[in-house]
Amino acid sequence: MIVDCHVHADNGRKVQSLLKSMKANYIDASIILYFPLWKKPGYFSLEKLIPVVAGHPELYLAGSIRMTDNPDFDRHFHVLKQAAQNRDIVAVKLYPGYEPFFPSDSICEPIYKLCTDNRIPVIFHSGDTWWLFPTSKVRYANPVYIDDVAANHPDLKIMIAHLGNPWIRETAEVASKNRNVVTDLSGLLCPPHHQERFAKRYTKKLREEILDLVAYYGDTDKLLFGTDFPLYDQKTYLNFFNSIGEFNQADREKILHENAKRFFALQGI
Ligand SMILES: [Zn+2]
Repeated sequence: MIVDCHVHADNGRKVQSLLKSMKANYIDASIILYFPLWKKPGYFSLEKLIPVVAGHPELYLAGSIRMTDNPDFDRHFHVLKQAAQNRDIVAVKLYPGYEPFFPSDSICEPIYKLCTDNRIPVIFHSGDTWWLFPTSKVRYANPVYIDDVAANHPDLKIMIAHLGNPWIRETAEVASKNRNVVTDLSGLLCPPHHQERFAKRYTKKLREEILDLVAYYGDTDKLLFGTDFPLYDQKTYLNFFNSIGEFNQADREKILHENAKRFFALQGI
């Protein structure tokens, strides 16, 4: 069984293309992470995406909200809370870095309360930001700041997305130190502009850093498989995962589905 714990699909057409990719790659379930920062036509609000995802038992949804510069914050927060209470979402994702706030800022406290009250995790974007958002500030996305949140909220489940790449050592420390923190493998592969010779070196280093993180913690319990589809296709990503080597069958089962099922308390699979 395979669970992709980190994909994006922000309208009905993109959900269809995700389902097609999952079928082709034997992926049993995916968690769609809502992205609240687009301002473009054809992009669904969270209210509109919820019923689309609810129609597919193999799909789960993580809600999100724009934390800064959002005149509709109160209304969006109400929608998010309602979705959590109705079990329409399995997590809440926040995007520090894309937005100028630290996870430890007090503006996030209502989100942490919402997550804790409804026993759902918070996911942080972490590490490098996408080139389409050049005004992003990466200092907000350094995973080391997530330690404050983890330590102050022992009952809040936290996922650091993208291994916090390139701050993978920081992520290893924060995830190892805090029993409530895990991390995902999504969005790590080489950007397409990399020349072949540098791409090879980059991928080799990535494999080593993933194994270093696992070795630092001493087990594979903290690692969840995710891709960041459609930014990376699921087939390429599975091939990359299979190329890491050194994982035995028990490790593979944990990373590919068991850790995600437990962490997100996924029902029905
Ligand atoms: Zn993503």
